Amino acid sequence: MQNNPHIQEQLEKWVEENRGHVVLGTTAQYIPALGNEDPAQLGICMIDEEGNYYAAGDTEKEFTLQSVSKALSFIAVCCHYGLDYVLERVDVEPTGEAFNSIIPFEIHRPNKPFNPFINAGAITVSALLPGQTPQKKFQFLLEFLEKLVGHPLEMDQEVYDSEWQTSHRNRALAYYLKEANFLDIEVEEALDIYISQCAIKINVKDLALIGLIIGYDGYNPITKERHFSDDIAQVVKVLMVTCGMYNSSGNFAAHVGIPAKSGVSGGILAAVPPKLHSQTYAFRAGAGIGVYGPAIDVQGNSAAGTMMLKQISKEWDLSIF
Ligand code: GLN
Repeated sequence: MQNNPHIQEQLEKWVEENRGHVVLGTTAQYIPALGNEDPAQLGICMIDEEGNYYAAGDTEKEFTLQSVSKALSFIAVCCHYGLDYVLERVDVEPTGEAFNSIIPFEIHRPNKPFNPFINAGAITVSALLPGQTPQKKFQFLLEFLEKLVGHPLEMDQEVYDSEWQTSHRNRALAYYLKEANFLDIEVEEALDIYISQCAIKINVKDLALIGLIIGYDGYNPITKERHFSDDIAQVVKVLMVTCGMYNSSGNFAAHVGIPAKSGVSGGILAAVPPKLHSQTYAFRAGAGIGVYGPAIDVQGNSAAGTMMLKQISKEWDLSIF
């Protein structure tokens, strides 16, 4: 099937309609290199199961994965060790707290981090990546991602340096993890891997393709390649729904209803599974969505990106609920 011009027109219209919402957020000031981005940007790419891409708005821009990487390192680690091994070391419980909060640790003293999408859980997962050194662990993740998107990827050194110099809170969290015996490697090594993965450069097209693969339970319907198993995909989608949009995941589930993972760079990865009983003409066989809008709200989600997804999900009946 050819690209549907009606879908393309709608997407372009909705990007412009939602562009005004960028004023509801600001760029992530706590990582100086992200704080300097132009907050007015907004772009989206959607891909269907036949490989048709629809892109509208600021779609050429490269940005860093940030917390979107948490979903991907979790998948990579599960692929290598199996789900059971990983879930013995990190739980799948939402916290309702900010992504970088220390409170859940102090109050509950859990026997493993609450979930892999808060920083504590993500740093734990990064440390689990296979490899004898931080470089080899990072390389493992990078190669896994390169297979998903089908081309080489690289890290943004400026963003890495900027976060490395200012990540005092993540350092504090990593010391908590070390004290609780959740880290088998040194604090600085775990931080190095985590900050490197957050600084991997990506664009909305790549995010959309990864979203499609997650929506298809680890299978790429375009290349007919399986990247990870159904059971890993199932847990990842649950995590995306319950924890993927930080402490506004409940609201996002209610109003958008698409498994998604956001990052403070303003990226959102969303996975729309097939929904064959849907009445709409668009994306009944599922879709992957990549969004970029660097003005983020207080929870850390792209302000205009979230509003745009709300509109798209409603218009095209994409909610899984
Ligand atoms: N690198 C960022 C941090 O740890 C990622 C956080 C995010 O995207 N929410 O603070």
